[in-house]
Amino acid sequence: MAELKLRDVEKTYGGAVNVLKDINLDIEPGELIVFVGPSGCGKSTLLRMIAGLEKITGGELTIDGQIMNDMPPAQRGIAMVFQSYALYPHMTVRENMSFALKIAKKSPDEIRTAVDEAAKVLQLEPFLDRLPKALSGGQRQRVAIGRSIVRDPQVYLFDEPLSNLDAALRVATRIEIARLKEAMPDRTMIYVTHDQVEAMTLASRIVVLANKGIAQVGTPLDLYERPENEFVAQFIGSPAMNLLPGKISGTGSQTTVALEGGGVAVSDIPTTDADMGKVVNIGVRPEDLEATQGDAIFTARVDITEALGEVTLLYFETEGDGIGLIAKLPGIHKGLRGQTISMTSDPAKIHLFHNGQSMRV
Ligand code: ADP
Ligand code: MG
Repeated sequence: MAELKLRDVEKTYGGAVNVLKDINLDIEPGELIVFVGPSGCGKSTLLRMIAGLEKITGGELTIDGQIMNDMPPAQRGIAMVFQSYALYPHMTVRENMSFALKIAKKSPDEIRTAVDEAAKVLQLEPFLDRLPKALSGGQRQRVAIGRSIVRDPQVYLFDEPLSNLDAALRVATRIEIARLKEAMPDRTMIYVTHDQVEAMTLASRIVVLANKGIAQVGTPLDLYERPENEFVAQFIGSPAMNLLPGKISGTGSQTTVALEGGGVAVSDIPTTDADMGKVVNIGVRPEDLEATQGDAIFTARVDITEALGEVTLLYFETEGDGIGLIAKLPGIHKGLRGQTISMTSDPAKIHLFHNGQSMRV
């Protein structure tokens, strides 16, 4: 069981290029924690610092209380699974998976047992005698993971392991990774992805990285239901949460916001008289909008519809270069294109942001 702590960790290149700063994070033993964030935000850099492949230029990393900053990668008890799975082409699956243990001078019996166990967990038993070229992309990826498992590391690091796979295989391999975690409940895993569906489905907790730091840490549902800022609100969930500007016009146990577009929104987030008149953005997810004949958050003409089968997406026409508003209605809706519709939402589903930060306490 490995517990990782990051304290004020930062990364600069050549002292000038600041990539990450103020990273404070406790990773519990046995967690599958996911780092998610836009391209270039420092996910791989953070992972590589944990692995020891990149120098930590400030702050401290400990594993089980031991400072790791200057510990060589091989002595950290960590295995890293990369995006590209370079297998030895002339070796069978069993030979590929045995290789590191042979180098480590383990006995043939030990090697056989370790490889057999890993092959069972990864459902690779039927392929042990095949060469990599006779495997599918997903199977090769599992062999790459298998090479790590045989060394029985305490911590697994995955850097976008599915990004080279096609859509169907991504889903299948994602489920394999979830299964793998279940088969090894006491191993700690850190998984990097820019794909929020992967993050939502795999993570025990998600770390959203943005603007050189941590935007929020929480369970997938925490991030979905209680985003602490507009960045997380719009990064988690698809299509992204709608944001509409307005001013607080009524306070108390519920808050009323008069929206710039003329609509009105009511939120269950309580406010005081001191908040009256504050400039805010209301946030409402496309799936939380519903048509109404009464008071509306907005009334707009449907520009485009997308029927996805289980849901229909409505893209509303916007004035000038305004923000595009999107609603996601359950089921199939025909003939809405070109119609003008009023939309509202349950006050429990209305988020309020002031200066980009959630007003929920
Ligand atoms: P991500 O994995 O989230 O896409 P990376 O960790 O790969 O992001 O990169 C984070 C930032 O660090 C990027 O802006 C990248 O350009 C920068 N970076 C990475 N390596 C170097 C380097 N050797 N020198 C300077 N900047 C670097
Ligand atoms: Mg990366």
